[in-house]
Order: sequence, then structure tokens, then C-alpha cells
Amino acid sequence: MDHQEENLPLVLIVDDEDYMRVQETASLEQVGFEVVEACNGEECLTLFQEHRPSIVLLDVMMPGMDGFETCAKLRNLPGGAHVPVLMITGLDDIDSINKAYSAGATDFIAKPINFPLLSHRVRYLLRANDAINKLVTSERRLANAQRIARMGYWAWDAKTEKLQLSEQVYRIIGHVEDSGINTVEDFLSSVADEDKGKVEAWFNDACTTGDVTSITHLTIAPDGTKNFIRQQVEAVTEDNQVVYLYGTAQDITELRTAEERIHRLAYFDSLTGLPNREYFKERVDSAVSLAKRHERQLGLLFLDLNNFKRINDSLGHRIGDQLLQATAERLTQCLRSSDLLYHGHSGLEKGHLARLGGDEFTVLLPEIQQGQDAGRVAERIIETLSGPLTLSGHEVNVNTSIGIAVYPADGVNAEELLKNSDMAMYYAKGKPKQQYQFYNQSMNEAALRRLTMENHMRKAVELNEFSLHYQPQLDIVTGRLSGVEALLRWQNTELCNISPDDFIPLAEETGLIINIGEWVLRTACKQARDWLEAGITVPRIAINVSAVQFMEADFCHLIKSVLADSDISPDMLELEVTEGILMRDAEYAIEVLQELKSMGVHIAIDDFGTGYSSLSYLKQFPIDRLKIDKAFVNEITTDTDDAAIATAVIAMAGSMDLKVVAEGVENKDQLGFLKHKHCDEIQGYYFSHPLSADDMEKYFLEEEASQARKPKLVGK
Ligand code: C2E
Ligand code: CA
Ligand code: CA
Repeated sequence: MDHQEENLPLVLIVDDEDYMRVQETASLEQVGFEVVEACNGEECLTLFQEHRPSIVLLDVMMPGMDGFETCAKLRNLPGGAHVPVLMITGLDDIDSINKAYSAGATDFIAKPINFPLLSHRVRYLLRANDAINKLVTSERRLANAQRIARMGYWAWDAKTEKLQLSEQVYRIIGHVEDSGINTVEDFLSSVADEDKGKVEAWFNDACTTGDVTSITHLTIAPDGTKNFIRQQVEAVTEDNQVVYLYGTAQDITELRTAEERIHRLAYFDSLTGLPNREYFKERVDSAVSLAKRHERQLGLLFLDLNNFKRINDSLGHRIGDQLLQATAERLTQCLRSSDLLYHGHSGLEKGHLARLGGDEFTVLLPEIQQGQDAGRVAERIIETLSGPLTLSGHEVNVNTSIGIAVYPADGVNAEELLKNSDMAMYYAKGKPKQQYQFYNQSMNEAALRRLTMENHMRKAVELNEFSLHYQPQLDIVTGRLSGVEALLRWQNTELCNISPDDFIPLAEETGLIINIGEWVLRTACKQARDWLEAGITVPRIAINVSAVQFMEADFCHLIKSVLADSDISPDMLELEVTEGILMRDAEYAIEVLQELKSMGVHIAIDDFGTGYSSLSYLKQFPIDRLKIDKAFVNEITTDTDDAAIATAVIAMAGSMDLKVVAEGVENKDQLGFLKHKHCDEIQGYYFSHPLSADDMEKYFLEEEASQARKPKLVGK
């Protein structure tokens, strides 16, 4: 027996007449069917449940329960709904046939039966039923797949303009099935307002061109839920006319949410929620192409908080983070109302404010009329950010430096505009009073020079290219050596001798001053120790300290360690700091200066008069000495203003118990003037240029020798 014969279809034959059953059975068994026989309706129902036949041959005219009633009952049995039932009727009138179908018959055959045909009819019905079963299964699977994929389909008839949505489509757009969406207009009512136009255009386009196209849009369910739907449409055409449109609609909300999350992670800064560098660059580039097309200008502001690092180091990262968040918030607020500031722009747009990282923020100003518009926004930002902030109970003062680059003058793409505004920002940082700066071309050339210098400077300590010179400071009355100032020298074979005025600012910008400054401190103090050991009395050694060094959180600690290592008295050490340091963050400066004072270290204010602080302002700082800048001393005998300033400084310093050193004294007249005004000490070429350590040692020895001779003269 082959496999097919093993699974022979079973036929249930129901007939009250024996001879009919015999003949039916014979004709079916002959072609390979298996048969079970029932002689009435009741038996039919019992045997059906027992054998579960593949098909039922049911006589209509039977005593008791007739064929119609039996069929109707059979349909309600388990497994009875879909089994093919072939009714055998003696009556071929339309009424009986209708009655048979409404009782659930699949087909009918009239008596007298053509037996050779019967088996074909049975086979055909089984095959058809099989096909239907498969279709039902695959439909169910498809529906499941669509439900899982949240995908549905729709059809639109061009002639009737009727739209038909599948159950899934209704579900996707949040409606109950058949809730009356029958036209494109009906459907549009569930599309989000902002997308309505786009969807309508897409649909009309499909109608006219018949192209296969897709669209993604937002729908709003009656309960307010928003879903992202992706639709695809295909047209059926006849004679170049669209007759039907078939479409699929898929709910891609989850996908979109995931995509947006990825987008957020890739394009947004998680701390402030602002766009990051990548996103900002894209925005700038697209703004540039727009500006190019319309021949407009745009402005790019590059902001950097001046004292962020110190706040972060001293108050901790949590407060540092809060500061950045608060700054982002302030900037957003400030820029939202920036339409007040320049024409043609309606406040802050998405992506126009970004955090590049650290304490750097950027602002894109599309459509500026002139560069000065960007300057006005910069001023407004500076003003907004300058108010104090309270973060976790700490009052924090921040201020910002802003660099401005303007398209097309200062760059034609995001990269260039960012680079140049960044450069301008650095220039702004270098100027104490001016907090914003426009980019200019010369900055670029300077930048190249600085880059070369920076590269050499990185290796300079290691290559032993630095040395210290020492310049004597003298007591103006006795003419005795009262101290020496250590001055840094850099000898590089390629760059030759570079003045500290040129390389110190760069060392500060790059942060290299931290290492270099430490080298200066250690070298100078060690030199003092060596001199002491050689029997030389060193009255005081003055060392220049840069703002960058001073602002380092462990500055006092460094000084302690240098003093301990060189084993010199703190009293021998004087630190020269500039007014700028004190002005930048007075509170902090006082704190550091007090600690240094308590260690016994002297403090001098360098370059006094060039900054903006007044003497009365200086009162609050624990300092020992003022150094009148050489710019004033230079013209002291010729320029009445300079003379007046120097005079006032000396007089007021005296009243505040501060010593005054005049630097850059180059001639006898200057000396005479200063002496007359009772300046305390002097330093300058008139007495000595800065000397190498060896020459300085000779100077010491000569001075000691002359002092040994002098007492007799003085005593006279
Ligand atoms: P500064 O602190 O004002 O130093 C005094 C400058 O005036 C020195 O220039 C010195 O050589 C120069 N000078 C001294 N007497 C006269 C004079 O009679 N006439 C004129 N025209 N100049 C005189 P130098 O050595 O070129 O240093 C320039 C600046 O570089 C210094 O100005 C200081 O701000 C900075 N600097 C030098 N060494 C260091 C250092 O070790 N650390 C730091 N942070 N800055 C330093
Ligand atoms: Ca100095
Ligand atoms: Ca000076």
C-alpha cells in the first residue's frame, strides 16, 4: 500500500434506503474511498463525531430527522463547520436547493444518481475544500503576521473614489474597525495637521503618475495617541489611467522612537540636551548653502566660560554639571528672545545652539544683515550670563568670552567658521575688558606661527632649552641689593631667542605654563639654595606667576613642596602676580593669597597701572609690594600724566603700607624723580640688565665686597 492509500479519505454516507447506500458505497470504494454508513440523521451525528469523515453524503428525504435538519445540526458539531456536505435530493426544485444551502450544504446532487460521476463529484469537493482550508490557514497566518508587523492594507477605487481599509489599518490609526473611513478625505482627518498637506500631495501624485512611492507621516488617534505610519502605494492602470490604488500601511512608531533615541545619542549632548558638535556642524552647513543661495550672511558665535575649570575643580563635578545645565538654559532663554536683537530672525531654532563639549557652546545666527548684529547678540549673551547663579547653595559667578566668525568673510563652511570663531574666542579671552572678538585674517597667520612655537615649546623643558636670568632690585635709599627677579629665557636653535613677551602668552593658552612655571619655581629656588650654600646672602628672590598657574587648584600645595624641596625660608620667596589675576575672581584670589601669606611668602603686584584696578580695590588683598610698570617709568620725566600716576601710586601705596618698586629704570633722571617721590626700590637697565646665574653670582660677590667697604662711608 502506498502512502496515499494509507490516508484514504473517509466518506460518511447517510441514507435510509439500504440499496442506495450499497450502491453509493460500492461506487466510492471502487475508486479507493473508505466508507462509513448511517441509516438516519441521529446515527449520522453519532458516527460523524466518532469517525470525523472528510466528507458527508447526506440524503434529504429521511424519516424522522430529515437531511436539512441533520445538516444544520452537523454544522454545529465540533469539526462540523467546515466539512463538505453533499446533499442528495430527489427534489431538484429551486426551493429545496435554497433550503439545502441555507441548512449549510456545500453542494447538491439530484437523484437518480449518476454513479460514475459521483466519485468525481466527491473528489472535486474534497479538493476544493482542501484549497479553502489552505487559504483560510494562510489568511490567518497573514493576518497574524500583519498584526505582529502592525501592517495593514487598503484599496482605493478610482471610479467610485471609495477607500477600503483592512482591519489592521483601522487598528494602526487607533480606530475601531469600520468606523466609517470610506474616502481619502475621511482618512486625512486622522492625519496630524502638519502632515495633512504632504499626505494629500502624495496620494494625488500616486493617482496621476501611478508610480510606486512611499511616505512616512504622523496620525492622531481619537484618544490623542500619535503614531508614525509608513505607507507604500502601487497603482493598477488601464489605458494609462489609474483605476485602483493598492497600499500598505505600517505602524513604525517603535522603530521611529528607537531611531530618535539613537539620533539623540549621536546628535545631542546628554547633559544639557543641546545638539552636539556633529549636529551643529550639519546645521551650519545647511544654513551656509541657504545663505549662499540667497546671498546672505550668517554669524557663528563661539563661547567659552572663563572660570569653569576652577569652579569644577573647587566645587566638584556635580556643581560643574549644574553650571553647564544652567548656562544652557540661560542661553536658550536669551536666544529665544533674540528676534528683538536683529531683523529677519524669529528667535531660536532647533540646532542653532549647541554644546561642543566641556564649557564650549556655539550659536548659529542665520540671516544677519551685518557683522555687528552678531556683536549685539554676543553683548546680550555676555550680559545674560554675567549675573550670579546659585547652585546647590553656592553662589557662582561665571563670565564668558565669545569669538565671532561671519559667513562668507570668515569661512565658507562649518569647519572653517568653527575654527575661526574659536580662534577669535581665544583672542577675546586674552583681553580682560573686552569679552567678545570678531575674527580677522591676521589671526590665522599668527596661529600658524604660534603652532610652530607651540610644537617646539612642548619639548623645551625636556631639551633643556630654558634658563633663568636674574635682575637685581635695589633699595633706592641705600643702593643695596634688596632682591632679584627671576626671568625666563628660551634658547631654541630654530626659533633663536624668543622674548618671554611672545612665548609666555602662548604657554598660558596651551596650558604648558603649568609645567614651565613649575620648572621656573623649582629652578629659581634651587638656585637660591645653591647661592646660600656658596655663602652668598640672597635677600629675596621674586618669581613671576601666571594667572593659569595661580588658578590651579593645588597652587599653594606646589609652593609648599617647592619650598620644602629647596629648603629655603618662605620669607625669601616673593611671587609676582598681575592685577588681572585679582580682578578675574577676587574672592578666590583673596583665599589663595591669604594661604600664601600665612606660609610667609611675599606677594607683589606686577605691572601695576596697566590693569584697571584702583588702589582702594587693592586694599582687600593681602599684598606686600607694588611694581610700577615700566611703561609709566619710561615717560616719567617727560609725560606729565605718567608722572602724576607714578606720584599718586607711590603716595597712596605708602599710606597703605605697601612697598613700591619701579621697574624699567633706564637713566639718572628717572632715578632722580623716583627718589624724590620716595619710591622704595628700583629695577632696570640703569643698574643692571637681567644676568645669567653665573653673572648674578659675580654681582653678589662684588656687591658684598663693596658693602664691606661701604659701612665706613655710610657711617661718616
Ligand atoms: P615683567 O615681569 O614685567 O618683567 C620685567 C621685564 O622688563 C623683563 O622682560 C625685563 O628684562 C625687562 N626690563 C628690565 N629692566 C628694564 C629696563 O630698564 N628697560 C626695559 N625696557 N625693560 C626692562 P623679559 O625678561 O623680556 O620678560 C618679559 C615678561 O615676560 C615679564 O615681564 C613677565 O611678565 C614675563 N615673564 C618672564 N619670565 C617669566 C616667568 O618665569 N614666568 C612668567 N609667568 N612670566 C615670565
Ligand atoms: Ca615681573
Ligand atoms: Ca612688569
